[in-house]
Amino acid sequence: MVTGRFAPTPSGRLHLGNILCCMLAYLSARSQGGRFLLRIEDLDVPRCPRRLSLQCIEDLRWFGFRWDGPVLWQSERTEVYKSVLDDLENQGLTYPCFCTRADLHPELAPNLGDTQVIYSRKCATLSPSEILEKSKTRSPAIRLRVPNQEIRFMDILQGEVCENLERECGDFVIRRSDGLFGYQLAVVVDDAVSGMTEVVRGRDILTSTPRQIFLQRCLGYPQPRYAHIPLLTDAAGRRLSKRQRDADLSALARVYRPDQLLGLLAQAAGLQDEPRPATLEDLLPGFDWKKIPASEIRLPELDLS
Ligand code: GLU
Repeated sequence: MVTGRFAPTPSGRLHLGNILCCMLAYLSARSQGGRFLLRIEDLDVPRCPRRLSLQCIEDLRWFGFRWDGPVLWQSERTEVYKSVLDDLENQGLTYPCFCTRADLHPELAPNLGDTQVIYSRKCATLSPSEILEKSKTRSPAIRLRVPNQEIRFMDILQGEVCENLERECGDFVIRRSDGLFGYQLAVVVDDAVSGMTEVVRGRDILTSTPRQIFLQRCLGYPQPRYAHIPLLTDAAGRRLSKRQRDADLSALARVYRPDQLLGLLAQAAGLQDEPRPATLEDLLPGFDWKKIPASEIRLPELDLS
């Protein structure tokens, strides 16, 4: 069965870019008669307090989003991630890494993108006795060893994406030295456990997807289809951020009704010709990925006076 989801990290109040993402994920799943799930990605508990998660759920309800089944909280799933990590360890795919941030800096190979830095594999060849010795003073991060292999997939909006994991990404951290499980691992496990067939999310995460597909293959999970949506910009083409008042729901909800905001987003995304108010149900029949732009979605000027 088609299953889609929205998976926010509630480290701040949602903004219209998040609502756009949720709207497209929702319309895509529901227009195929599929399920729609909500997962709160609050792994980093101090950064994502309950109060913000509850606010996020309330905001989504205000817009009219409804999801199937209970909300899935990543902060409650540590045991599941632990058992998957054991599986990867048993397959010999991981190694402990004792490098500190300061250690890593001189080690960084040429920076190939905004976030991608290649790990030197300094810790990949430590002997068991070296590992034991180092463990006495520092708890290690766990890295996943990646192969010299191209991961290729077809994104609904961005077309074909291809990355050589060894050359362009490097061995990546799946559990941090403070014990926190990495985003890549948690997302892959939760999507698989929930039977996710489609993943709709921001294009800023596109670079994570080859790593997630590799993890799916290591774990024998099916691969969902992906749609990485462009970032929402303001009328001047500037990226909206959580700090910007014009995108923050607390300011917007004082002036606009949810159907007015959805109507504006739907027009910006190419789903209707005018910014007329629309509920999610109104937008369902006309939903089609072919209408959604791949590179930029620009909001009209918002009036907050
Ligand atoms: N939690 C991520 C975010 O809020 C999204 C993760 C995903 O959709 O895979 O940016």
